[in-house]
Amino acid sequence: KLHNTVLDLKGNVRVLCRVRPLLPEDNGSGGKILSYPTSMDTQGRGIELLLNGQKHSFLFDKVFTPEASQEDVFLEMSQLVQSAIDGYKVCVFAYGQTGSGKTYTMLGRPGHADEKGLIPRSLEQIFQTTQSLKSQGWNYEMQGSILEIYNETIRDLLPSSQLSIDSSQTENSTAKQHLIKHDANGNTSVSNLTVVDIHSTKEVSYLLNHAARSRSVGKTQMNEESSRSHFVFALRISGVNMNTEQRVQGVLNLIDLAGSERLSKSGSTGDRLKETQAINKSLSSLSDVFFSLAKKEDHVPFRNSNLTYLLQPCLGGNAKTLMFVNISPDSSSIGESLSSLRFAARVN
Ligand code: ADP
Ligand code: MG
Repeated sequence: KLHNTVLDLKGNVRVLCRVRPLLPEDNGSGGKILSYPTSMDTQGRGIELLLNGQKHSFLFDKVFTPEASQEDVFLEMSQLVQSAIDGYKVCVFAYGQTGSGKTYTMLGRPGHADEKGLIPRSLEQIFQTTQSLKSQGWNYEMQGSILEIYNETIRDLLPSSQLSIDSSQTENSTAKQHLIKHDANGNTSVSNLTVVDIHSTKEVSYLLNHAARSRSVGKTQMNEESSRSHFVFALRISGVNMNTEQRVQGVLNLIDLAGSERLSKSGSTGDRLKETQAINKSLSSLSDVFFSLAKKEDHVPFRNSNLTYLLQPCLGGNAKTLMFVNISPDSSSIGESLSSLRFAARVN
């Protein structure tokens, strides 16, 4: 009985924590991860950090240790992929500081097929399942788009002019305005956004590679810049049953969020400051939305950021949400890890 009450009070967001392995470049000092899963639980749900002599304990829906494979992690979300095929709206987020493993979790390691991430694995499951549903009269169509939100501005990562090999002229896609619209049925459209029919997992890897190359890169710190934008892969899955005329339309959103690290106190100015403020605003809006949904408030502040406004129909209501909080085990990152876990604990 008590257990049920606790569940009722929970938000509709499942939170999974993933600790990445220690990398050769990790060499900090500071705090440490004391244990995970912890003595608090027997089901692999707890994690404990030690920072400045203080112990901080958290409990999530699950904690993945560094040994967890991409396959292990995917198994925890494959039910949600099935939900999207069944007609639900689904969002899966990766949250964490830069370098904590968000992109590894979502996309995998480039060139290592056995380490592919949640996005390619989801598509494999979708194609397999929808193929096998054909014998029951189901016919499915998939449409995808990939965008990023950088400084509160939407950018199309698949401008059609660049996708076609024949086109000699490259459009200036950055000049295009992208406005978000929701219709009465909860369908979202973004003006001037390229939407591509998808027929195979091969096509998707082509699109993902294309998108990765188009992701925001700044003038100076090239490799860091992609972590300053939110990356949104959206797949619309439409099914119609030829025998019964039943229709379903699900959406699967897979989101690699911008790095959650806080602005260093010293000397962030200009573009960098603007970026950080935009990231802070959208990440705190996301947490406010989850919090408000969990409390079943009448007014949910979706419009406070483009990220939450874009995803509005896919958050709350019948929608299903999963958030990965990625953390690094490096001692010098424990401060950031702690604030990531606190963020996640607030939405869980
Ligand atoms: P983020 O996207 O959060 O900035 P990345 O996904 O790029 O972080 O991860 C940082 C580095 O750690 C990359 O070199 C990545 O390959 C590696 N990495 C992250 N998670 C894992 C993991 N679970 N197993 C092995 N390597 C990982
Ligand atoms: Mg990344």
